[in-house]
Amino acid sequence: MKYNNIEFNTYFKNYPDANGYFGKYGGSFIPPELQTAMDEITQAYNTICKSRNFINELRRIRKEFQGRPTPVSHLARLSENISTGVQIYVKREDLNHTGAHKLNHCMGEALLAKYMGKKKVIAETGAGQHGVALATAAAYFGLECDIYMGAVDIQKQAPNVARMKILGANVIEVTDGLATLKEAVDAAFAAYCNEYKDAIYCIGSVVGPHPFPMMVRDFQSIVGIEAREQFTEMTGELPDSVVACVGGGSNAMGLFSGFLNDPVDIYGVEPLGRGTALGDHAASLTYGEEGIMHGFNSIMLKDKNGEPAPVYSVASGLDYPSCGPEHAFLHDIGRVKYGVVDDEETINAFYTLSRLEGIIPAIESSHAVAYAMKLAKEMNKGSILVNLSGRGDKDMDYIIEKYGIR
Ligand SMILES: *Cc1c(COP(=O)(O)O)cnc(C)c1O
Repeated sequence: MKYNNIEFNTYFKNYPDANGYFGKYGGSFIPPELQTAMDEITQAYNTICKSRNFINELRRIRKEFQGRPTPVSHLARLSENISTGVQIYVKREDLNHTGAHKLNHCMGEALLAKYMGKKKVIAETGAGQHGVALATAAAYFGLECDIYMGAVDIQKQAPNVARMKILGANVIEVTDGLATLKEAVDAAFAAYCNEYKDAIYCIGSVVGPHPFPMMVRDFQSIVGIEAREQFTEMTGELPDSVVACVGGGSNAMGLFSGFLNDPVDIYGVEPLGRGTALGDHAASLTYGEEGIMHGFNSIMLKDKNGEPAPVYSVASGLDYPSCGPEHAFLHDIGRVKYGVVDDEETINAFYTLSRLEGIIPAIESSHAVAYAMKLAKEMNKGSILVNLSGRGDKDMDYIIEKYGIR
């Protein structure tokens, strides 16, 4: 399929290019000593991860340890409740081991670390989901694990901090700046600069310098591959629309990669938080501009000095002032449309899905559900497939404290 002069039949061969570019976005903007480490990872990824041994081992792990394939569920009561004739379905990444999609790339990254002979994995975490997923992978493969986490997020996500510690990871508190995800990324990066000979950096999304946006997308593409097959088997056709929330954008790229070459409308959902003023949201693609941070060129939210702006979202996993370079590219060419939902719509969707379907979604995923509910009201027939990126157990205490039972 051709879209805006881009041939999607051969898309994955051509994007990113050899230097990690999706159009003008992506690349690698890092100190030379770190570039050596990145080149080593790129080289290893291109050889090891394409080898039959690696592919077979990862397949076995996905089935026997992660519990894949995760199902696709039809949301009959929610669809009925919106009552437009549109049928809504969800891809159940909440049922992936550890309760979110992030284990998909963590098992891939940690398996690569093992093949490369590394002893330690290093990462940042926001909601704590990436930290838990990586700590899980590290325990599985017998690797050391250092997780950098903002002090604010440590407060908000106490159960995930406990999980990481139980799994044997070192949780390192970051108190700089707003003490959330962005500062945690800076700290993890700095640590990796000193330790790259024995360690590998495992980024938590489709962000960072090349090869991470490509590698994480490829490890997450299992979501889209499974979902496309399951949906067509269930219904005999493709969904009309697919929807996923976008923080860095990994669960979204996972789902979208299964449908880019199909006549399917694709929607990414960004968090509008408290509103449109800078600092009140984290809708980078919607309100941002081109810029470089954390080693890659993408679209980001800047303050008046051109630095990454402070961001806010009720979802810790979405409060990042940039997004993966592939999203910036797909946004510019128009293949994916990006929309927003605010905190209030999100909390409403959180309760609606819980009450009508018996599924408590992560607050991040609730953004995608909220958007699908709005979209269903605009479409008067057809189907929507939503990526339910994670389960909401980690968010329950916070939601009850802040919003009460509704
Ligand atoms: C981390 C997280 C996200 C956001 O990350 P992406 O890379 O944008 O997918 C979304 N949902 C859940 C449940 C998460 O844990």
